[in-house]
Amino acid sequence: MSRADRLVALLDERELDCLLVTNLVNVRYLTGFTGTNGACVLSRDERLFLTDFRYVQQAIEQVADFERVEAGRDLLGDLAGKLRGRAGFDDAHVSVRAHSKLSERASEGVELVGAGGLVERLREVKDDAELAAMRAAADIADAVYEELREHGLVGRTERDVALGLARSLEDRGAEAPAFPPIVAAGPNGARPHAVPRDVEIPRDTLVVIDMGARVDGYCSDCTRTLATGSLADGARELYELVRSAQTSAVAAVRAGAVGREVDGVARGIIEEAGHGERFGHGLGHGVGLEVHEGPRLARTVEGRLAAGNTVTIEPGVYVPDEVGVRIEDLVAVTEDGCDVLTGFPKELVTVT
Ligand code: ZN
Ligand code: ZN
Repeated sequence: MSRADRLVALLDERELDCLLVTNLVNVRYLTGFTGTNGACVLSRDERLFLTDFRYVQQAIEQVADFERVEAGRDLLGDLAGKLRGRAGFDDAHVSVRAHSKLSERASEGVELVGAGGLVERLREVKDDAELAAMRAAADIADAVYEELREHGLVGRTERDVALGLARSLEDRGAEAPAFPPIVAAGPNGARPHAVPRDVEIPRDTLVVIDMGARVDGYCSDCTRTLATGSLADGARELYELVRSAQTSAVAAVRAGAVGREVDGVARGIIEEAGHGERFGHGLGHGVGLEVHEGPRLARTVEGRLAAGNTVTIEPGVYVPDEVGVRIEDLVAVTEDGCDVLTGFPKELVTVT
């Protein structure tokens, strides 16, 4: 069944006659279109793809299985005319202004119904081609980590290292980095979303590095915490604690596992060591066309993992003003476990 077919099968569940898809990532997922102005309308008997004149040729090359319609640059007016009956729209992405324009222009009898998250739900389960792209993206980041061992860290600024990583990801075949790489030494590593600074990386500390590649639109995401020399006992213990939490959580991943429970495996180990308050984020998130998507793994998540989900497992402990440790793998969920896509070693690696 095509992605569009599977989406149409979800219309009944929400009692919709058609669904308007305007979010470009969702449009790409459904149609293959990678331009910056496109939208589609799907119903049981119609698959319409709209774009403006600039992308007509690209749409011919990329979009099969949809009726292609050339519209004005502002697609909304033309889209409104294509809606019928109970028309679902993505209430997480359609602005209030766009919504009022749609309802003004829609024909008599059209009812706009908030129906966000349907495409996102399909996107959570990857097919073989998607998994292959993500594996390739993860392999590129692994190679860049290996290269970093040779290039070294001590005496370079965080910013210089981060720029070098971004360049290496592209040199090795990534379309782009999946996100701007994070390089955070010592106390800066205690911020989960640290920004690389123009500050030299010292010897004998921990450095949190978080990066990923993008291949065919698909992201990878991998964090390693590296040592730049010998560490104080406390820092080494902290590293081993996070490593044990991370590997235990990876071992708990399988189709059917409850998100909250997998999170709890890592969190329990960190809490038992007295650092519960210092693990202030969820265990992981889905990755795909976007670096953060569903499903999430966190304390509050009741949903279960399914085969084909691709999620990160990334516990961290952050000691304010001192040091941070995070270890993140990207895994593909299978019926009886998971495939770990990120391969760089998790035993403490020293790079000087
Ligand atoms: Zn990451
Ligand atoms: Zn992540």
